[in-house]
Amino acid sequence: MKYQTVIGLEIHAELCTESKVFCSCKNGFGFSPNTNCCPVCTGLPGALPVLNSKVYEYAIKAGLSMGSKISKYSVFERKNYFYPDLPKAYQISQLEYPLCIGGHIELELNGVTKIIRLNRIHVEEDAGKLIHSENKGSLIDFNRCSVPLIEMVTEPDLRSAQEAVALLEKIRQILVYLGISTGKMEQGAMRCDVNVSLMPEGSSVYGTRTELKNISSFRSVFAGIEYEVKRQTDILEKGGKVIQETRRWSDEKMQSFAMRNKEESQSYRYFPDPDLLPITVTPEYVQSIMAKLPRLPEQRIKQYVTEYNLPIYDATLIASERETAEYFEDCLALYNKPKEISNFIMSDILRLIKGQNQSLKNIPVNPKKLTDLLKMVSDGKVNVTVAKTVLEEIWKTDEDPEKAVVRMGLMQVNDMAEIEKIVREIIAQNPQAVEEFKAGKSKALAFFVGQIMKATKGKANPQIVNELVIKLINI
Ligand code: ADP
Ligand code: MG
Ligand code: ZN
Repeated sequence: MKYQTVIGLEIHAELCTESKVFCSCKNGFGFSPNTNCCPVCTGLPGALPVLNSKVYEYAIKAGLSMGSKISKYSVFERKNYFYPDLPKAYQISQLEYPLCIGGHIELELNGVTKIIRLNRIHVEEDAGKLIHSENKGSLIDFNRCSVPLIEMVTEPDLRSAQEAVALLEKIRQILVYLGISTGKMEQGAMRCDVNVSLMPEGSSVYGTRTELKNISSFRSVFAGIEYEVKRQTDILEKGGKVIQETRRWSDEKMQSFAMRNKEESQSYRYFPDPDLLPITVTPEYVQSIMAKLPRLPEQRIKQYVTEYNLPIYDATLIASERETAEYFEDCLALYNKPKEISNFIMSDILRLIKGQNQSLKNIPVNPKKLTDLLKMVSDGKVNVTVAKTVLEEIWKTDEDPEKAVVRMGLMQVNDMAEIEKIVREIIAQNPQAVEEFKAGKSKALAFFVGQIMKATKGKANPQIVNELVIKLINI
C-alpha cells in the first residue's frame, strides 16, 4: 500500500530581547557557565517573576506577521515536571489562554502555493542546558533558564520532509526580518519537535503519530522525518501498529530511539502561575505594533516585480534579507533605475560583502555612492566595466566615485577624433583581421573592439568604438 506522510511541527524560537523574560539577567549567548542567572530564573524560594514587556511586543510582532489573532487576555501557567535543567521544577508557559491564536504561513514550493495553518503561538521560558561530557559526567549550565521563547504550533498540514524544512526556513526568515530572533540555529535559537504519522494514500483519517523531540538543525529535521517515514512504513507493511511515543533523534547514528510512550507520558498538572497576573493587551497597543512592522519579503517581491519590473530571480534575492532590501530601496529613492541597481547589488555589492562580517548598513559604498557611480555610467562618463573597478576601489578608499575616477584617470573618452586615431592604428596593424571581417566573420569585430578597449585601458566609449570600427574598415 502507498502511504501519505502527515507532519505537524512545534517550533521554538528564542527571542533576542535585551533581558530574559521574567528577570533582569542579560539575554545572550556565550557567557561562561552559571554566571548569567539569578534567584528568579533559577527559581529560588520567594523570588518573584516580572514579565518583560518587550517579550510580549516581540511575540505580538510574530503573531501579526503570521496572521494570528492576538488575544486580549492571556495567562501564564506552570507546567510542572522534574528535570535537572529545570531548577524550578516547572516551566512558565501558556496553555489555555495563549497570546496568539490561529494564523497561517504561505509556502511557495515547486511553483505551487500552499497554506500551512498555525494552531497558536505562545510565550514561555527556556530551560537550562545539560552538557554530557565523557570524563566529567553530566554538567549543568543555568544561563539559558528563562531565555524568552515563542512556540509556534502548526496544524498537521505538512506532507513531506521538504515541506517541513521549507516552512522552518520561511519562519526563520520572518523572525530575522522582524528583528525578534537571531535565527542562529547553531546557537540553538530555533528548535523543533517533529510529529510524524502515515495514512493510506487517499484517506483523510490521520494515523498514529510519533514525536521527535528537540531537533536543532534543518538537516536533522529532514533526515529525522525520512527515517520515521521509513520506520513506520516498515511497521505498517508488516501488519503492525505504530505506537504513539516520543522519540529521540541521533545525528551520529542517523536513527530515532524510543524515549517514552503515551502511557508513560506524564501529566504536567498545569495551573495558572499565582505570581503572574493575566495579561490584557489592548487593541490600541496591537495597532501601534502593527504600524511599526517592516514589510516582509513576500510583499517586497510582489512590489519589485509588478512596480519595478524586476525579474522574479532578482526580486527574490534582493528581498530575502531585510538589509539588502532596504539598501536597494534607499538606492531607488536616489536613482530610479531598479534593474541597474539590482545588477550591481547582485553581482558586486553582495560579492564584496561576502565573508566580511559587515552589515550593508555601514559598508563604505553607501546608496548615495553606488547611485552616483551608476549615474556616471548613464551619463557616459564611465562604462560598466570601469564602474566595477571603481566600485572595488572606493570600497577600500571610501572616496566619492567621481573623485576616484578622475584620480585613477578612468574618465571615459567620448572624443570621436581621439578614438578614431586609435581605431585607425589598430586597423593598420591587423590586416588579416580586416580581411576576416570583410569575409563576414563577426569574431573579427569583437577582436578589434577588444584591442581598442585594451589600448585605451577600457576608457573608450564602447558604442563609439563599435561604430567607428565598422565605418573605417568598410571604406
Ligand atoms: P501534544 O504534543 O502536546 O500532544 P497536540 O496534540 O496539540 O500536542 O499536537 C502537537 C503537534 O502534533 C501539532 O503540531 C500537530 O499538528 C501535530 N499532530 C497532531 N496529530 C498528528 C498526526 N496524526 N500526525 C502528525 N502530526 C500530528
Ligand atoms: Mg508535543
Ligand atoms: Zn535571572
